[in-house]
Amino acid sequence: MSAKQQIERLRRELHEANRAYYVDARPSMTDREFDEKLARLAELEAAHPELDDPASPTRRVGGEPIEGFETVAHSLPMLSIDNTYNEAEVRAWAERVLKALSKDAPNATPKPGPKAKRAKNAQAESLFGDNDGHAPDDAPGVAFVCDPKIDGVALSLRYEQGALVRVLTRGDGVRGDDVTENARTIRAVPLRLEGDPPRVLEIRGEAFIPNAEFERINREREADDLEPFMNPRNACAGTLKQLDPRKVAPRRLGFVAHGLGAVEPADAFVRYSQVLETLPRFGAPVGGSWSLCSSVEEVIAYIERFDRARAELPFMVDGVVVRVDDFAQQRTLGYTSKSPRWCIAYKYPAERKTTKLLRVDFQVGKTGKITPRAVMEPVLIAGTTVRHASLHNFGLIAERDIRTGDTVIVEKAGEIIPQVIGPVLEERPKSARKIKPPESCPICEGPVEIELETGRETARRCVNPECPAQIREKLIWFAGRAQMDIDGLGEKTIDQIREESDIPLGHFADVFRLQNHRDALLALDRMGEKKVDNLLEGVQQAKSRGLARVLGALGVRHVGTATAKLLARKYRDIDHLMQASEPELRPKALTAAERKAHNIDEHALETGLGRETAPIFHAYLHSPAAQRTFKELRSVGVDLTSRDYIGDGERAAAPDSPFAGKKVVLTGTLESFERESLKELLESLGAKVTGSVSAKTDLVIAGESAGSKLDKARALGIEVWDEARLLAGLPQGARP
Ligand SMILES: [Zn+2]
Repeated sequence: MSAKQQIERLRRELHEANRAYYVDARPSMTDREFDEKLARLAELEAAHPELDDPASPTRRVGGEPIEGFETVAHSLPMLSIDNTYNEAEVRAWAERVLKALSKDAPNATPKPGPKAKRAKNAQAESLFGDNDGHAPDDAPGVAFVCDPKIDGVALSLRYEQGALVRVLTRGDGVRGDDVTENARTIRAVPLRLEGDPPRVLEIRGEAFIPNAEFERINREREADDLEPFMNPRNACAGTLKQLDPRKVAPRRLGFVAHGLGAVEPADAFVRYSQVLETLPRFGAPVGGSWSLCSSVEEVIAYIERFDRARAELPFMVDGVVVRVDDFAQQRTLGYTSKSPRWCIAYKYPAERKTTKLLRVDFQVGKTGKITPRAVMEPVLIAGTTVRHASLHNFGLIAERDIRTGDTVIVEKAGEIIPQVIGPVLEERPKSARKIKPPESCPICEGPVEIELETGRETARRCVNPECPAQIREKLIWFAGRAQMDIDGLGEKTIDQIREESDIPLGHFADVFRLQNHRDALLALDRMGEKKVDNLLEGVQQAKSRGLARVLGALGVRHVGTATAKLLARKYRDIDHLMQASEPELRPKALTAAERKAHNIDEHALETGLGRETAPIFHAYLHSPAAQRTFKELRSVGVDLTSRDYIGDGERAAAPDSPFAGKKVVLTGTLESFERESLKELLESLGAKVTGSVSAKTDLVIAGESAGSKLDKARALGIEVWDEARLLAGLPQGARP
């Protein structure tokens, strides 16, 4: 296959995968496969700039950081929709609509034609059963469309000749921010429409963050010691306003269309339901659960049914938008000064309950951050029993005047994280007491540092580096599954060793010295021989996880799991990382002049660190504390070389890697590698490592005592490498 054919094929496959995922809601490829194909495509495109295409899926990874957002006028205003929280108002609105239409043009308002039928997708069918879409006799031929109201950020996507040319936020409705570069990274936003779209088509809709992705982002933020987002909408708005589009791409935003702006020719669509039926054919996703209703009773029934169904959806739906289907009727109804008369949003009330605030706990995190947490009388909210709620920080407690003993209003914000909204002042008992922020660390009594933003307290930290609470949290993190993955060293065991024995466990290196304390461990309550040996075996194995895991496990500020991995791709071991200059640690945040001054290649590997964070990490690396940590870890046998190393120099050669695009199967035991790290290494060199041998396998790497996979490979005539051949085949920098 020529490069051109390969490029076209990959673009087509990736495009179809996006479509299957976002438009048809039928994923056809795993995220991993997608990423691999994308990486392969990027390599081919880099080698063939003449085959460039602005609509290529690689263009979604995000361009250069921008200075700010330009505001641009909307071609048609993006009006907000009137909200209501009760059904009677929906009925009253529908009555006004019917009255205005029958009075204004009794003969010009057609009944919904035979084509006006409800959504034909499986989700809608299963949620709402059948609906024949007939118009009842009492209505003057007005059909309504009910659409789930997703809690996200409204965008207007402008397509000219099918190509995406500009994306604006709603802004003030008249002018919005140009977020084109960021929106291009959203895989649900087509870069080019399929089929035969109108020559100008502005698709308006909602960008949003699915719930699972929201939780992932918040876990990552907490690991990096950043304030978690309050709800998916905040997370989405924050993401779209990132100045660096590359930070937008990894957050998997969704998008669904829910309206149109300018369209040329203007008569391309006559009904909203027609828009919803047509957009998926252009490759643009619409919400799956819309429904065409022929009476206000059907609308109310939809709202009630959907309230039960929405909890099951993978994203936040906070209401239902009801609108008149027919565009001619919409024009007749027109607008008030702020909003269309042909449309109303019914919002489900956020579930709030009141309960009693019993006390406030102070938790000290691994970076010393002291977080207040409400302990309340248990209360059932949105289907779960809630005992604890976030109070975020002491600034917020003071601002909302929350006191112990108060009856407080608790809400499940974004229906995900419960939080205390505020006190019910009328019910405040005399005994209610103000919550005093701790003047010193509640655990070690060490001094605290207060962080302020515009005069309001946003965080309070224990600054004692030896704070036992921080050490405890750090050790739990260090031994955790995604870090050093030490079997048998969970939270309980860490507490037990620290509280019930004399075994030192205050430094990371102490974890590995546990091997010297077998007898003392055996003396602990509930620690049998089997349990202790399992723990010590886990400790032994953790020594060889490599640099990325160690860096990520230390819990250094601004170096989370992802950044640690990127650093380990760039530096072959801790010594090389220590030698890196501060600018070298943030290649993507360098100006051209800085790059030149420090002689840093423009293709230097990314690290995940930026202008603010790189100096902090650099200072940490060169602090006596860090020097001691690494020296001690090395002395107890922890491997500080990288398993992920690619290196700046080797990257250009990656397309020539003997493994690029190959399907590889590993079998048997290898001297120089652990299975998992070899897998990661080969994948970083472009291989696809699979579990079983088939006719599609390109290469089998067989170590000692390889079994049936090797036999099968031989039977199929597949190339087989032993360990020596593998070592010879690996690029210089990747050899162990
Ligand atoms: Zn402390």
